[in-house]
Amino acid sequence: MNWLTNFVLPKIRAVVAKKEMPDNLWHKCPGCGQMLFHRELEANLHVCAACGHHLRLAPEKRLAMLFDDGKYTVIELPKAIVDPLKFRDRKRYAERLKEAQGAKGTTRDAAVVAHGTLGSVAAVVCAFDFGFMGGSMGIAVGEALLAAARLAVLQEAALIVVPSSGGARMQEGILSLMQLPRTTLAVEMVKESGQPYIVVLADPTTGGVSASFAMLGDVTLAEPGAVIGFAGARVIEETIREKLPEGFQRAEYLLEHGMVDMVVHRRDLKAAIDRILGLLCRKAPPALAATALPATDRGWERA
Ligand SMILES: [Zn+2]
Repeated sequence: MNWLTNFVLPKIRAVVAKKEMPDNLWHKCPGCGQMLFHRELEANLHVCAACGHHLRLAPEKRLAMLFDDGKYTVIELPKAIVDPLKFRDRKRYAERLKEAQGAKGTTRDAAVVAHGTLGSVAAVVCAFDFGFMGGSMGIAVGEALLAAARLAVLQEAALIVVPSSGGARMQEGILSLMQLPRTTLAVEMVKESGQPYIVVLADPTTGGVSASFAMLGDVTLAEPGAVIGFAGARVIEETIREKLPEGFQRAEYLLEHGMVDMVVHRRDLKAAIDRILGLLCRKAPPALAATALPATDRGWERA
């Protein structure tokens, strides 16, 4: 023990040691490779300022972005059976789930459901988390969509779903495939109740998700550059032995071919949905409704 080890050494260490820098301050744009500062990226709704690439968005951010004043209430989802097949590849599925859940809580899966208002219209939004096992759809996600649809019917609210998913969750085998008809029926329930169902296709929407609820919207919006399709482009190319056209399975390509109604930049997304909901849901002012039709034609009021 002397002054060298007690006093000088810590000082030298303090000067020489690398300052601990959080590694998430910068993000690399997958589109153009530009380094983006996290605060600027946040302010820009996770869209690259250089090339306009839409980065994937966490569901909480998506919900805050869509709901009026960023205010919403997340609903608790019914508990689904965990790992029904006791599946194991290189790792146990149960372990993978735990890892993905991390600090998010044990009930969390790849879809989050919340309700609130959009453009003053009551709405239920189901947003996907691609960061959670590729946003894949297993029983829990099926339950989330069913819960969202039931809530929309109960509250007479619009249903908005923002998928970002690789498809069905293969660790749940046939049970994940069962979510295709289940979610289709959920959507059908909303449609039968007369509430609008809007889908916002975010990157990527592929596989079983694109083969069920994601392509059934009354109105289908998509984010620019989003990959949307069933089978991957390489698989198709190898199967049909043909070169696929430029921009195949991108949002803009689907718009050109009539599969998508609008491709909307993320900063305009809320305004676009607000406007659509306003057109579909807002009732005419009472004075106008009363004078527009003679009393005998107003059977719809009693219905
Ligand atoms: Zn970029």
